[in-house]
Amino acid sequence: MAFEGLSERLQKVFSSLRGKGKLSDEDVRKVMREVRMALLEADVNFDVVKTFVKTVRERALGSEVMESLTPSQQVIKIVDEELTNLMGQEAVPLNKSKHIPTIIMMVGLQGAGKTTTAGKLANRLKTQEKARPLFIAADVYRPAAVEQLKTIGQQLDVPVYDEGTEPDPVDIVKNGLKVAEENKNDYVIIDTAGRLEIDEQLMDELKRIKELAHPDEILFVADSMTGQVAAKVAAGFDEQLDITGVVLTKLDGDTRGGAALSIRSVTGKPIKFIGQGEKLDQLDVFHPDRMANRILGMGDMLTLIEKAQTDYDEKQAKEVAEKIRANSFDFNDFIDQMDQIQKMGPLDEIMKMIPGMANNPQLANINIGEKDIAHLKAIVYSMTPAEREDPDLLNPSRRRRIASGSGQSVQNVNRMIKQFKQSRDMMNKMSKGNMAGMDQLMGN
Ligand code: GDP
Repeated sequence: MAFEGLSERLQKVFSSLRGKGKLSDEDVRKVMREVRMALLEADVNFDVVKTFVKTVRERALGSEVMESLTPSQQVIKIVDEELTNLMGQEAVPLNKSKHIPTIIMMVGLQGAGKTTTAGKLANRLKTQEKARPLFIAADVYRPAAVEQLKTIGQQLDVPVYDEGTEPDPVDIVKNGLKVAEENKNDYVIIDTAGRLEIDEQLMDELKRIKELAHPDEILFVADSMTGQVAAKVAAGFDEQLDITGVVLTKLDGDTRGGAALSIRSVTGKPIKFIGQGEKLDQLDVFHPDRMANRILGMGDMLTLIEKAQTDYDEKQAKEVAEKIRANSFDFNDFIDQMDQIQKMGPLDEIMKMIPGMANNPQLANINIGEKDIAHLKAIVYSMTPAEREDPDLLNPSRRRRIASGSGQSVQNVNRMIKQFKQSRDMMNKMSKGNMAGMDQLMGN
């Protein structure tokens, strides 16, 4: 999983601060040495690490003291904010032209995921904006590239302009743009050639395409698995082409963090999207703050909520939040939530987005499948309406009755009730202020 090593290390560093009343300068220095090591091991660019550590240290030692936070919470908060800054603070949308078509040029090294990302982007524009994009196949050096784009075009029902692999790519782009104009396509996505490394001939060709097409967006596609090398290559492309944004691919793999944390600082250009899988719907908007939370093992609740929003009734969401705050969340709500969660997709993916779960070693031992959910539901359905509303009624004899009614062992019933109460308490604490919940998750 992405950032696993970095997350684990940072969480370990922070747990070493647990219980400290006040942090001495030496404590802060020691922690920052560890953070520095963790970032370097995650393959983050050396200069980026140096500046980051300096900023966090100065802020942690400075006058910035918030009464409401414990010293370790303060350090976590500062690290969280600075990680967010490092990746660019806010999500940056795709550039759009005032007149159609908006022209997007995909650039990057071979294998980075340009063609796949071109497809994902078209898919996104089609589903979100009902757009009518056109692809231009301008990678004439890798014969399979044209075919690959055509296959993607067929899958998405997006037209592909190609002239095979003989002509000059600049001419192909010129002719393709004419076709887009005739057909009134609102977006044109140009797939360009890559190389194994930057070379002059490639840059020259890309520059000529740029001069001809005047793209609104030049997206550098970076393979996040290549770590800080991706940042160096991005800087090379930027120097020649003045890129407008970055797409980080393969964040579904076990990438260490170097690319995500270095690229923005090194190039000054925003990461706009992240690729999280090979499928054409696996492209997400990049949110620096959410990514920082994910790195710190605080999960990605907002993405989770966005995922849920499509099916989720807002009124119901508010009611649940209110119940959590009042600590009156009961087994009926639990069943509703289970139903909602099941609608959202594979459970293991969802669990990773819940704060504290991403790198929770206990998660490795929990393997919740559809069958387990059915068992949990069977237990709840064997409760009386009064028991569902008031878990405190569940004394041993009631538990035995529920066990035999649901076909589960008494141990299973006990465990389920215990977990229910623990989660309810944790949600209740978190609802009363982020930091309190976060603190608990960090083991403080
Ligand atoms: P190009 O040479 O830059 O056009 O790269 P491709 O689009 O052909 O992608 C190279 C490989 O990376 C293909 O096998 C893709 O399926 C894969 N790929 C691209 N993006 C992602 C991603 O976000 N996650 C994963 N797991 N694989 C990806």
